[in-house]
Amino acid sequence: MSIFEKIVAGEIPCHRIYEDEHVLAFLDIGPLSRGHCLLIPKVCYVELGEMPAEVGAALGRVMPRLCSAVKAATGCDGVNVLQNNGGAAGQVVMHVHFHFIPRYTAKSPHA
Ligand code: 5GP
Repeated sequence: MSIFEKIVAGEIPCHRIYEDEHVLAFLDIGPLSRGHCLLIPKVCYVELGEMPAEVGAALGRVMPRLCSAVKAATGCDGVNVLQNNGGAAGQVVMHVHFHFIPRYTAKSPHA
Protein backbone atom coordinates (compact mmCIF):
# COMPACT_ATOMS: atom_id res chain seq x y z
CA MET A 1 0.00 0.00 0.00
CA SER A 2 1.45 3.42 -0.95
CA ILE A 3 1.67 6.25 1.58
CA PHE A 4 -1.00 8.05 -0.41
CA GLU A 5 -3.32 5.03 -0.34
CA LYS A 6 -2.99 5.15 3.45
CA ILE A 7 -3.91 8.84 3.34
CA VAL A 8 -6.96 8.05 1.17
CA ALA A 9 -7.96 5.33 3.64
CA GLY A 10 -7.57 7.71 6.59
CA GLU A 11 -4.76 5.65 8.12
CA ILE A 12 -2.35 8.59 7.81
CA PRO A 13 -3.74 12.02 8.72
CA CYS A 14 -3.63 14.91 6.28
CA HIS A 15 -5.26 18.28 5.75
CA ARG A 16 -7.89 17.55 3.08
CA ILE A 17 -8.74 20.33 0.65
CA TYR A 18 -11.02 18.60 -1.85
CA GLU A 19 -12.37 15.11 -2.29
CA ASP A 20 -14.75 13.30 -4.62
CA GLU A 21 -15.31 9.71 -5.68
CA HIS A 22 -12.11 9.56 -7.75
CA VAL A 23 -9.62 12.14 -6.45
CA LEU A 24 -8.25 13.73 -3.28
CA ALA A 25 -6.37 17.00 -2.78
CA PHE A 26 -4.45 17.66 0.44
CA LEU A 27 -1.63 19.80 1.80
CA ASP A 28 1.92 18.57 1.23
CA ILE A 29 3.67 17.57 4.46
CA GLY A 30 6.91 19.23 3.29
CA PRO A 31 5.66 22.34 1.49
CA LEU A 32 7.96 24.13 -0.94
CA SER A 33 5.88 27.22 -0.30
CA ARG A 34 2.86 28.19 1.79
CA GLY A 35 -0.20 26.33 0.45
CA HIS A 36 1.70 23.62 -1.49
CA CYS A 37 -0.79 20.83 -2.08
CA LEU A 38 -1.09 17.55 -3.95
CA LEU A 39 -3.84 16.13 -6.15
CA ILE A 40 -4.01 12.35 -6.48
CA PRO A 41 -6.26 9.66 -7.91
CA LYS A 42 -7.70 7.60 -5.06
CA VAL A 43 -6.58 4.39 -6.76
CA CYS A 44 -2.81 3.95 -6.94
CA TYR A 45 -1.14 4.14 -10.36
CA VAL A 46 2.61 4.59 -10.19
CA GLU A 47 3.04 6.72 -13.30
CA LEU A 48 0.76 8.90 -15.39
CA GLY A 49 1.08 6.62 -18.42
CA GLU A 50 -0.51 3.73 -16.52
CA MET A 51 -3.66 5.63 -15.64
CA PRO A 52 -6.94 4.90 -17.46
CA ALA A 53 -8.34 7.85 -19.42
CA GLU A 54 -11.37 8.15 -17.14
CA VAL A 55 -9.14 8.66 -14.09
CA GLY A 56 -7.18 11.28 -16.02
CA ALA A 57 -10.47 12.95 -16.89
CA ALA A 58 -11.52 13.00 -13.23
CA LEU A 59 -8.22 14.69 -12.31
CA GLY A 60 -8.51 17.08 -15.25
CA ARG A 61 -11.98 18.17 -14.18
CA VAL A 62 -10.66 19.20 -10.78
CA MET A 63 -7.39 20.87 -11.79
CA PRO A 64 -8.69 24.24 -13.01
CA ARG A 65 -10.84 24.71 -9.91
CA LEU A 66 -8.07 23.57 -7.57
CA CYS A 67 -5.62 25.99 -9.19
CA SER A 68 -8.10 28.85 -8.76
CA ALA A 69 -8.86 27.81 -5.18
CA VAL A 70 -5.15 27.69 -4.29
CA LYS A 71 -4.70 31.21 -5.65
CA ALA A 72 -7.77 32.51 -3.85
CA ALA A 73 -6.92 30.83 -0.54
CA THR A 74 -3.26 31.81 -0.43
CA GLY A 75 -3.23 35.15 -2.24
CA CYS A 76 -0.20 33.91 -4.18
CA ASP A 77 1.00 35.56 -7.37
CA GLY A 78 1.31 32.35 -9.45
CA VAL A 79 1.09 28.57 -9.21
CA ASN A 80 3.42 25.86 -10.53
CA VAL A 81 1.69 22.59 -11.41
CA LEU A 82 4.25 19.79 -11.50
CA GLN A 83 4.09 16.05 -11.93
CA ASN A 84 7.08 13.69 -11.69
CA ASN A 85 7.15 10.26 -13.37
CA GLY A 86 9.81 7.82 -12.19
CA GLY A 87 12.73 8.14 -9.83
CA ALA A 88 14.92 9.65 -12.55
CA ALA A 89 12.38 12.47 -12.83
CA GLY A 90 12.34 13.09 -9.09
CA GLN A 91 9.33 10.97 -8.15
CA VAL A 92 9.65 9.80 -4.55
CA VAL A 93 6.11 8.62 -3.74
CA MET A 94 5.14 5.96 -6.28
CA HIS A 95 1.50 6.99 -6.58
CA VAL A 96 0.60 9.51 -9.30
CA HIS A 97 0.33 13.03 -7.89
CA PHE A 98 0.24 16.59 -9.15
CA HIS A 99 1.96 19.28 -7.12
CA PHE A 100 0.25 22.68 -6.90
CA ILE A 101 2.94 25.05 -5.65
CA PRO A 102 1.94 28.63 -4.94
CA ARG A 103 4.55 31.23 -5.88
CA TYR A 104 4.95 34.62 -4.25
CA THR A 105 6.80 37.64 -5.53
CA ALA A 106 9.40 39.19 -3.26
CA LYS A 107 6.95 42.03 -2.58
CA SER A 108 4.02 39.74 -1.74
CA PRO A 109 2.36 40.43 1.62
CA HIS A 110 1.11 36.80 1.56
CA ALA A 111 4.44 34.92 1.34
P1 5GP B 1 7.47 13.54 -5.41
O1 5GP B 1 8.92 13.89 -5.20
O2 5GP B 1 7.22 12.05 -5.36
O3 5GP B 1 6.91 14.18 -6.68
O4 5GP B 1 6.70 14.26 -4.24
C1 5GP B 1 6.15 13.57 -3.16
C2 5GP B 1 5.56 14.61 -2.23
O5 5GP B 1 4.79 13.95 -1.27
C3 5GP B 1 6.61 15.44 -1.49
O6 5GP B 1 6.40 16.83 -1.76
C4 5GP B 1 6.35 15.10 -0.03
O7 5GP B 1 6.55 16.19 0.85
C5 5GP B 1 4.93 14.61 -0.04
N1 5GP B 1 4.62 13.63 1.01
C6 5GP B 1 5.32 12.51 1.28
N2 5GP B 1 4.77 11.84 2.31
C7 5GP B 1 3.68 12.55 2.69
C8 5GP B 1 2.71 12.36 3.72
O8 5GP B 1 2.71 11.39 4.49
N3 5GP B 1 1.74 13.31 3.83
C9 5GP B 1 1.68 14.39 2.99
N4 5GP B 1 0.69 15.25 3.19
N5 5GP B 1 2.59 14.60 2.01
C10 5GP B 1 3.59 13.69 1.85
